[in-house]
Amino acid sequence: MNSSIPVAEDTLKTPVQFLKGIGPKRAAVLQSNGIETVRDLIYYFPRKYLDRSTIVPFRQMTDYNNQIVTGIGTVVSVIIPKGRKKRLVVTLNDVRGVLECVFFQGVDYWAKAFEVGEVLAVSGKVNFYGPKPSIVHPVIDRLENEQSMEFINTGGIIPVYPSNAELENVGLTRHGGFRKIIRHTVRKHAHEIKEYLPASVIDRYKFISLSKALNEIHFPHSKESLSDAQRRLKFDELFLFQLQLLLQRKLHIDSAPGISFAIESAYARSLLRALPFELTHAQKKVIKEITNDMRAATPMNRLLQGDVGSGKTVVALLAALVAVENGYQVALMVPTEILAEQHYRTIMRLLESSDDLDNFRIRIELLLGAHLLTHKTRVLENIANGNVDIVVGTHALIQKKVSFHKLGLIIIDEQHRFGVLQRAEIRGKAARDPDNAVPDLLVMTATPIPRTLAMTLFGDLDVSVIDEMPKNRKPVKTYLRFEEDRAKLYAFMKDQVKMQRQIYIVFPLVEESEKLDLKAASEEYEKFRTGIFTDLRIGLLHGKMDALEKDEIMMKFKEGKIDILVTTIVIEVGIDVPNATVMIVEHAERFGLSQLHQLRGRVGRGADQSYCILMTTKKFFYGGREVNDETKELISMTRKRLQTMCATSDGFVISEVDLEIRGPGDFWGTKQHGFPELRIANLLTDSEIVQTARHEAQEILLHDPQLRKHEHFDVRTIVEGDLRNKVLLGTVA
Ligand code: ADP
Ligand code: MG
Repeated sequence: MNSSIPVAEDTLKTPVQFLKGIGPKRAAVLQSNGIETVRDLIYYFPRKYLDRSTIVPFRQMTDYNNQIVTGIGTVVSVIIPKGRKKRLVVTLNDVRGVLECVFFQGVDYWAKAFEVGEVLAVSGKVNFYGPKPSIVHPVIDRLENEQSMEFINTGGIIPVYPSNAELENVGLTRHGGFRKIIRHTVRKHAHEIKEYLPASVIDRYKFISLSKALNEIHFPHSKESLSDAQRRLKFDELFLFQLQLLLQRKLHIDSAPGISFAIESAYARSLLRALPFELTHAQKKVIKEITNDMRAATPMNRLLQGDVGSGKTVVALLAALVAVENGYQVALMVPTEILAEQHYRTIMRLLESSDDLDNFRIRIELLLGAHLLTHKTRVLENIANGNVDIVVGTHALIQKKVSFHKLGLIIIDEQHRFGVLQRAEIRGKAARDPDNAVPDLLVMTATPIPRTLAMTLFGDLDVSVIDEMPKNRKPVKTYLRFEEDRAKLYAFMKDQVKMQRQIYIVFPLVEESEKLDLKAASEEYEKFRTGIFTDLRIGLLHGKMDALEKDEIMMKFKEGKIDILVTTIVIEVGIDVPNATVMIVEHAERFGLSQLHQLRGRVGRGADQSYCILMTTKKFFYGGREVNDETKELISMTRKRLQTMCATSDGFVISEVDLEIRGPGDFWGTKQHGFPELRIANLLTDSEIVQTARHEAQEILLHDPQLRKHEHFDVRTIVEGDLRNKVLLGTVA
């Protein structure tokens, strides 16, 4: 989904082909890159800027030894010197000094890439191997002569546009190509884009006008005017997005009739009495927030956020019991079959654990895609007849065949594993309800979502946070270990088993080579069983097993009948075996940060000291050889992930690092449907603007819920256009 673009006059909808300098060929390439109209081109913002004040003259580079710098100069020679190691040296001149750019990789390729006389902007770490400064494998921006002279003479700021091979092929390079066509377009058409923000908002934040912002974002006159333009356009983007979210929510949720539950519940009280522990303050607080929503006549739309192991299940169960006691059904949806089984058993066990609860005869069923048809048919009938109160299931719950008798509460666990569409679909299941009321919705996630991201991704949800762990917990000790430490690792494992503790050892699963990885896990299992750990009880669990097998292994592990569970990412979320105290992750470098955090969350769930051991390769820490930029970047990101794991167990810190490394679009591992592709705002670094934008959007709707006032006319036109285009806006419909 693209973010909103303010309303345009007709010329702005003109295809780019009719612009000066763009023929059919370029137009076709632009179109395949998402730039179709004049307006799209104006909203194609620079990726970065070259700012003269940050350029270091070559002569002054001695002051910057070992630091990253940018310099600009003319190519004076391109040579492959004779000698020890094959390399290419490109020498640049900047009037008063020289700089050498050195290439070890792809020498023949680079040798052809430069011409004497052309002007380059180069960035990288500067070093002095001799008297001259040099940069190895710099990042290169090619400047046009005319441009670079202007740049050097006037001290301007040059935009660098995002480009790719396809675009460069038709001359739309990061500098020259794009700059030319965009300059022309912006000068001619940017003023046609109408101001739409109410004057009061513009005044309040001292924003520059939209057309000025659009001019300055491309061709800034100064650093200050650039930053004004950025502030204005970021606000626009976030403000319109928040408005859409809030309106959407109003349309579909707040205006629909909900269920007003009586929240005084004998069932819930009995459960509290039966629990072997006291609830934490945080648990009590969120239960209050949830039950308040349940009592209200509008449908609940709440996100419950709490780090792994913070005790969300019991909170969900209390809410479920309230709904059941009111005569409604509850659907609990989880992302994996193993987790569904686990929840089902946990709830069964709890309900049977006291006579009180047992007497209520609460009926609970499990619905999995993998179940036998006859069993499924029976469960489906029970759901439809109202002969079951709580249904636990996977996405099998949202199949067409499932229709509830009287669905009152939907709970989605590990929500980040589901698409937004699925969230909407299960809510649609309630259509059969006799009163046509919309059921309450509680989504839970252990992936701590940075606040700004939550406001954007879940802007339609109210948020409750469990920000406290049960008292008995000790932080998990996390270590990095390498191949040579393996013997010690095995000895440690034996010790732990001797102390009656249990161990997970997880192998990565990469889609393309699923078979290979299963082989790795199975082989290790065989090795353990027949070799080093013959006297221990070893289990194997992976995604290719059928549900029954999986369940049997998990049960055995839970009952302490397996010492070491060799497994894959199938146990990533939700699994709760408090006696397991060691989590070993093989090839830890192949996991994402939040995955590692989830995996580590499988241990440290009881009172015993737990350990997480990340097995990896030394090269991520001691990569000495010359490597190209891309590999370097990869290695440094990997190292950052692993070091973050060792440094902190705070889920919020981890998710912020993760967001920083991966970018919000990829935050959930896969690009989630309905996530806004922001053009200019950055959810991590622009948190202040995110909050302002949300606040303003709320304010406007508070005083003018339908956007009927004259000063909101233009805002409304834009938002309505966008709502029409996008049926589901990252929100529950
Ligand atoms: P998550 O939030 O990761 O879903 P769970 O609900 O699975 O966490 O809870 C983790 C473990 O902590 C479970 O074994 C649960 O019984 C236990 N637990 C939950 N709340 C408390 C509490 N207040 N005190 C002690 N243990 C608790
Ligand atoms: Mg859980």
